[in-house]
Amino acid sequence: MFDVNAIRSEFPILSKKIYGKDLVYLDNGATTQKPSCVVKKIEDNYFNVNANIHRGVHYLSMQATEAHEEARRVVQDFIHAEHAHEIIFTRGTTEGINLVASSFGEEFCSEGDEIIVTTMEHHSNIVPWQILAQRKKLNLKVVKLTDDGMLDLAHLYSLFSDKTKLLALTHVSNVLGTINPVADIIRNAHLRNIPVLVDGAQSIPHMAVDVQALDADFYLFSAHKIYGPTGIGILYGKEKWLNKLPPYQGGGEMIAQVSFEKTTFNELPFKFEAGTPDYIGSTALAEALRFVNKIGMDNITAHENELMKYAMTELQKIPGMRIFGPSLAHRSGVISFLVGDIHHYDMGMLLDKLGIAVRTGHHCAQPLMHALEVEGTVRASFSLYNTKEEIDKLAEGVERVAKMF
Ligand code: PLP
Repeated sequence: MFDVNAIRSEFPILSKKIYGKDLVYLDNGATTQKPSCVVKKIEDNYFNVNANIHRGVHYLSMQATEAHEEARRVVQDFIHAEHAHEIIFTRGTTEGINLVASSFGEEFCSEGDEIIVTTMEHHSNIVPWQILAQRKKLNLKVVKLTDDGMLDLAHLYSLFSDKTKLLALTHVSNVLGTINPVADIIRNAHLRNIPVLVDGAQSIPHMAVDVQALDADFYLFSAHKIYGPTGIGILYGKEKWLNKLPPYQGGGEMIAQVSFEKTTFNELPFKFEAGTPDYIGSTALAEALRFVNKIGMDNITAHENELMKYAMTELQKIPGMRIFGPSLAHRSGVISFLVGDIHHYDMGMLLDKLGIAVRTGHHCAQPLMHALEVEGTVRASFSLYNTKEEIDKLAEGVERVAKMF
């Protein structure tokens, strides 16, 4: 049974008052709130299990090492990776994409080669490729969108060429909520021997992900968007790729032998984990994933879909409402909108005064804003702990603000 009130009671921040009003937290696409079990895990680790991991011969170090490696196995199970060593701990989605752009680009790309991205990417899946393109004199090709905010698949496939080295695309758009048909896209890309990197930052909290079923070559996400701590994330990479890529950063942990004549590198996954790992963050992430598993991803998806449906219906009743992105069948997690000519910033500021937290602006997707011919939008993004009552408050709030203008 999915009991939203019981779930809410696990998130102390949700009972906070903002300007004397109940908090309505609808900025989950930016970051999710944390359940008590995750915060307790962090405290427990610092108080009881803290010691630097790997190579330690003492009890605490071995205990902390085991907890960190167990966390890797929890992530492996969560995304159905074949091997635990295909799970690389990073600082987040952004760092993971930079890692692949740098290491993959170094090994496999040369002047005149092409990388494909899409118009709906977050800046963190655009700028690393631009930097690589500049460094290696590559061409960045950009997939267009259809009028209803989906990828133009015919255009995408027309961009495939013998020079295409990689396709990097998001699973779910952080602005439009569009769920891209990544399994089909990957199948088609692989027919042309093109590897695919999937940005999973906005899919991982909302839907079951099976990297083997998708056949993704790289899949990335951030812990903080799925009830885990900030500052840690995951790069999944197929063993065959990770083994071929050169290290991203040098330092401790990532080496086998160091001498001034020749340094050799550690095996996977440590080759990509230079320096002291965030072993507190990894175990807190594992706790967050256990929390999700306990509730059941299918239950979460069903609850959030119900909320989205309700929110779309209620928001569409408001005069002047303009919702961006596809129909419900192709959408997850977020609703971006504008009302009449009310500036997104004014709407966000005034909703805040009602205790309603939404995000405004370009959402780190300026090329998409350009394609939509807007400067920014208001974005409400949903999570497992949101309720229909909160959506009523959002709709009432938006209507109230609209009447003021
Ligand atoms: N990709 C998408 C689609 C996102 O929505 C975000 C964050 O909002 C990121 C990447 C970057 O995630 P992070 O800042 O945690 O690295």
